[in-house]
Amino acid sequence: MRGVSGAPGGSQLPTYRYSFDWDAFYERYPLPDVFAKTVFLWSPERIRALQNERFLEVMQVGWKNPFYQALWRRAGVEPGDIRSLDDIARLPTYNSDDLKTDQHEHPPFGLLPGYASLQSHLQHAPVKLQTSGGTTGKPRNTLHGTAEWEWNSLGAARAMYLQGVRPGDIMQIPATCSLANLGWAIYKGCHDYLGVMPITTGSGLVTASRRQIEIAFDAGVNCWMSFPEYLLRLAQASREEFGRDIRELGTKMITSFLGPDTEGTLRAQIESLWGCPVYDNYGTNEVGEGAFECAQRDGLHFMEDAMYFEILDTETGQPVAPGQVGNLVVTVFHRTLMPTIRFNLRDLGRLVSSQQCACGSYFRRMDHFLGRSDNMVRLRGVNVYPMACLPAVRSDPRTTGEWLCEAHTVVEDGRSRDELIVYVETRANAGSLDGLQAHLENRLKADLGVSVEVRLTGQGQLDTVANLGEGKARRLVEKRPAYLKV
Ligand SMILES: [Zn+2]
Repeated sequence: MRGVSGAPGGSQLPTYRYSFDWDAFYERYPLPDVFAKTVFLWSPERIRALQNERFLEVMQVGWKNPFYQALWRRAGVEPGDIRSLDDIARLPTYNSDDLKTDQHEHPPFGLLPGYASLQSHLQHAPVKLQTSGGTTGKPRNTLHGTAEWEWNSLGAARAMYLQGVRPGDIMQIPATCSLANLGWAIYKGCHDYLGVMPITTGSGLVTASRRQIEIAFDAGVNCWMSFPEYLLRLAQASREEFGRDIRELGTKMITSFLGPDTEGTLRAQIESLWGCPVYDNYGTNEVGEGAFECAQRDGLHFMEDAMYFEILDTETGQPVAPGQVGNLVVTVFHRTLMPTIRFNLRDLGRLVSSQQCACGSYFRRMDHFLGRSDNMVRLRGVNVYPMACLPAVRSDPRTTGEWLCEAHTVVEDGRSRDELIVYVETRANAGSLDGLQAHLENRLKADLGVSVEVRLTGQGQLDTVANLGEGKARRLVEKRPAYLKV
């Protein structure tokens, strides 16, 4: 006997297993090995046709959603105006400020989720709350129904599979399963989809670095997911606190989030310390795995069958020319709870290729994640993104690779202008620091297109300000009074 939801014993509870048509979901979003042989290798025309079909389905959901009804009507858009993906630019974009307003006016989660009420929705389907990391401002709330939550781990599993993870592997995950998606996505991706045993040690705050290393050697861990800063820390802890070179682990691969490592220095450093390839990914709590490197590591493939990315000019909102930097704007096909249609992530991206990759896929490829556009500082007419300091800071081995930008307003003769001080940490054993400050200032001027002041600090001095936990770093501190901000 089965209940209304089809659960055994006539259960009336909204059981996860019975709240969802799993076969239809995997038909729509193929499992990693099937995906790698099918959709991922489709022609550009076939991918576009699929995106068009899914976009029109999402639009149907959008027109029933009070958040989009209001947003689109304000912009003068009528249902008949959007007939295909080619018309997407007629829809207005929105960003996290709009989400905050929506959640403030209709607490706690706003009109965007699209249900009559959370309590009524929970009578027939499970829901999970996740939030963004809060690198800038208050974290964003995102609700996940079964499809959204499953996609979160299926997307991660697809990326890991294409990066070489296989059944029988053992993956250590030094990220805490918390309000952040990442730890969950990797754990479930390994466990539910790949036949990989996940070891969920949590961040360094949950399991100390020395113990992380001990667990890895004891269990025979051969794959890792972690942030760059923590991977460097683990290599050091292994050597100094555990007495073994981390390379003795024989790690097969590391999946990570390299950020704007445009010259590959950060990747090269981790790879040489660990003796294995490192793969880059891009994701957010709204989209899950948004883009990933394949085995070629020649740009991050957008997850084209589950979402549609546009890259728009940060000021005009118009599409940028291929190869130019702009805001990533996303329309998500797998979301019906909290549908996501032309959401401006304010993450900076750059298309590197729409051509076929050496792996055989036509899925478009973007550069590494280049930083947050709302972290921008305008210096003498030039837009400066604090994340863009990475290649310069890492260009001299005497730095620890850590930095923090501090934006100030200087008032002179009744006129104000913004200035940026870049604090750069130096290694305790760096030896002579002669010429380092001048080198960094010259290099930053070349990279950023404008002069900034560099101040050197000792190892670990930026820790309390720059470290947001989980290996995520804050790169900008505002010392500008809000009323003077340009
Ligand atoms: Zn590829």
